[in-house]
Amino acid sequence: MTAARQLQRSAPASAVPPHADVVVIGAGFGGLYAHYRFRQLGMSVFGFEQGTDVGGTWYWNRYPGARCDVESVDYTYSFSRELLDEWQWSERFSTQGEILEYASYVADRFDLRRDIKFESKIVSAIYDVAANLWTVRTEKGESITCRYLVTTVGCLSVPKDPDFEGLESFKGQWVQTGAWPKEGVDWAGKNVLVIGTGSSAIQSIPEVAKTAGHLTIFQRTANYSVPAYNGPLPEHRQKEVFADYPAYLAMLRKTRGGQTFELQTDNFAADFSLEEQRERMEQAWQLGRWNLQSCFRDITLNEDANRLAGEFVHAKIRETVKDPATAEKLIPRGYPFGTKRLCLDTDYFETFNRDNVDLVDINEEPILRITETGLQTSAKHYPADLIIFAIGFDAMTGPLVNLGIKGRGGHSLKDAWADGAESYLGLAVPGFPNLFTVNGPSSPSVLTNMILSLEQHVDWIADCIAALRERGLDIIEARQDATDEWAQHTEMVANHTLFPKANSWYMGANVEGKPRMFLAYIGGFDNYAARCDAVAANDYEGFALSTSKVEERA
Ligand code: NAP
Repeated sequence: MTAARQLQRSAPASAVPPHADVVVIGAGFGGLYAHYRFRQLGMSVFGFEQGTDVGGTWYWNRYPGARCDVESVDYTYSFSRELLDEWQWSERFSTQGEILEYASYVADRFDLRRDIKFESKIVSAIYDVAANLWTVRTEKGESITCRYLVTTVGCLSVPKDPDFEGLESFKGQWVQTGAWPKEGVDWAGKNVLVIGTGSSAIQSIPEVAKTAGHLTIFQRTANYSVPAYNGPLPEHRQKEVFADYPAYLAMLRKTRGGQTFELQTDNFAADFSLEEQRERMEQAWQLGRWNLQSCFRDITLNEDANRLAGEFVHAKIRETVKDPATAEKLIPRGYPFGTKRLCLDTDYFETFNRDNVDLVDINEEPILRITETGLQTSAKHYPADLIIFAIGFDAMTGPLVNLGIKGRGGHSLKDAWADGAESYLGLAVPGFPNLFTVNGPSSPSVLTNMILSLEQHVDWIADCIAALRERGLDIIEARQDATDEWAQHTEMVANHTLFPKANSWYMGANVEGKPRMFLAYIGGFDNYAARCDAVAANDYEGFALSTSKVEERA
């Protein structure tokens, strides 16, 4: 047992106070840092978390093979030198379990659980204009008022419902990757079905296949995946990176995604000869991670450059998968390479060479229903003991609209976003004063190293509240004109890329009826952070600042 695991303890049952300066919803990495940072300002902070403990994404996604696709040395809090010295990651890409231990260690190290009420689902958060207060209520009927409401609910925390006909009649076990049972799942020797082939499935499938009796994968859209080349993280490598972390962080903050890739370049594909292009892509494949997406500057901008990378992966799949018919099914078609989030895998395509693994293309053989004993397609019945749904999330907006947020005039966030999620810098929404959304829609969030992005957001919010307090102000609200301008800019930047050509969750396309728009800011973390800094330096340009105190308004 590691020292961190020993430190882990069950969460105390915090009593909900009647009022706090700041309420933080969510106790993942963003929530933990928010508690730390607001406490530093001398503010009273209280938090709610739906799970029984801290960790957010890493609390819920306990499926086999779950690990981060950002390198451990980058996916690390930067705010505490002591923490950097105390924590040693063991693998290049950390497992879900180790990241959860880290979250727990941080919570203990800075005594952050003290002000968090766990097992608390928020059902409403309502703004009272006259009092300039938010009232936040839990499902259990507890409530608290606060001046500032900060959501740190994650971008991928509402798993899509597996609304397959007949599921209620299934006599075996079914689970969702995004809400994997804490007590674990036993699949050894069993007939297992996996539905979906996104990142979660691509990580789970090789692990499940190792001991399942038989595994059948139901694929709707083949996905691009490249090798992660995970391995141990030598202590000296982490020490090197962490030795001067401020300099390292400054370098990361100048990148588009909060991480660097060996083959990143400003050169276009056409700047290289055919031979050089081929060599570069091969080198990128051998290096793993998102090198293949970065080895020409225009891979997700230009169709010809994109086709090169796409066809390169197609060839790799044909080389790896022995059965040609299975290989053809696994070849992604109909959308540009990298415009659905590129998956990093360990032996994903190799797994299809196992005797106990089969692939079903549900376009050829649609799923009709789940039965008492398995799954019926148009062609045959697949018996199952366990069905794993890896069908994705109501991304970016789902976690926020589910909170029951109502701003000025009782107007709900759900209604405000009915035609698209408009948000100023992904941080604030007109009509919802003093509400801050960490990694909200139209911020770089999911396109970046999330820890870097959430630290930037929390720091910006904390500095903003401190500045308001210093000036005797207590109301901040995004202006509609600034929000519209940001939405136009966000859309313009996205339209400059090939990303809108894919039916991805980035576009809201995976949820029926959800408005189509590119939900993140793709202009780069570097540009985005500079814009946020400029907004703050320019007296919070685009926000209306005021005070609720009558004597100061007079
Ligand atoms: P996802 O990428 O949305 O994949 C969902 C899969 O389920 C897709 O193959 C989708 O097919 C399929 N699907 C959805 N509804 C279906 C239905 N009714 N019938 C059959 N198939 C259906 O979800 P995810 O794999 O959970 O990944 C989501 C995101 O989480 C990732 O893109 C990534 O950002 C993050 N994530 C990160 C890591 C990591 O750090 N390593 C790991 C896992 C997830 P279509 O493509 O046809 O819709």
